[in-house]
Amino acid sequence: MRTVVVSGASSGIGLATARRFAEAGDRVVNLDLRPPGAGAHPAVGWIEADVSDWAAVRAAVARTAQDTGRLDVVVANAGISIRHGVLELTEADARRIVDVNLLGVLGLWRCAAEIMVPRRQGVLLATASVNGSRGYPLYADYNATKAGIVALCRTFALELAPHIRVACVSPGAVLTPMQLAEYTPQMLDEVNRSIPAGRHADPAEIAEAFHYLASPVASFFTGQELVIDGAETAG
Ligand code: NAD
Repeated sequence: MRTVVVSGASSGIGLATARRFAEAGDRVVNLDLRPPGAGAHPAVGWIEADVSDWAAVRAAVARTAQDTGRLDVVVANAGISIRHGVLELTEADARRIVDVNLLGVLGLWRCAAEIMVPRRQGVLLATASVNGSRGYPLYADYNATKAGIVALCRTFALELAPHIRVACVSPGAVLTPMQLAEYTPQMLDEVNRSIPAGRHADPAEIAEAFHYLASPVASFFTGQELVIDGAETAG
């Protein structure tokens, strides 16, 4: 039975990902600020933690590895977004986005790598975004953090090869509470029409990608992002 840590698994993509691993028989721990929301798998444990607080993350990861005797997979998924133009954003908001989305991934991966490297096995995963590879107005700081995750992924993979694999998933639009909070019903239709696949992804479709990347079937997949976007960025 593998031990899997997923951050931000109280909602959306993380919740579906934790559920996917738990259904496959893995032991799963969710690091999240908030308690698990509706639809969470009952076997997934919750440790209250803010991923921007490296000491809290380190303690949670160490406790999980000690309690279960192993640490096989980490999915650094917790993230936030704030819709603001470059002339409106505040220093406090921009710093919070970088702290959670980018330094949150770096801290969690770093703490996990400390445990995985001596054991010469493990898989580090994270949720980046197609926003990291294109310009999307009103999300400058968010987009930069997602590009940063891909950069972290490349360097971690090079430094930690050959024993540890590192990869990230870059979703396009996924129907989650984060996404819905920013839409009017009309916007939802507009975005659906703008995606060649004609719809948003379901969080379960992203969870499936994480499950694949964490499995031995993906044994040569490292140092890269896997884009899942219904052809949104194919043109
Ligand atoms: P969501 O808001 O439904 O879930 C995010 C979860 O992260 C929540 O449970 C929240 O409590 C938790 N969280 C937020 N800040 C945290 C912190 N500091 N410490 C610990 N937990 C924290 O959002 P989602 O859409 O499922 O997003 C998950 C990830 O997917 C994010 O990194 C997001 O940027 C990324 N993403 C989302 C989409 C999309 O369309 N929804 C697309 C591409 C990438």
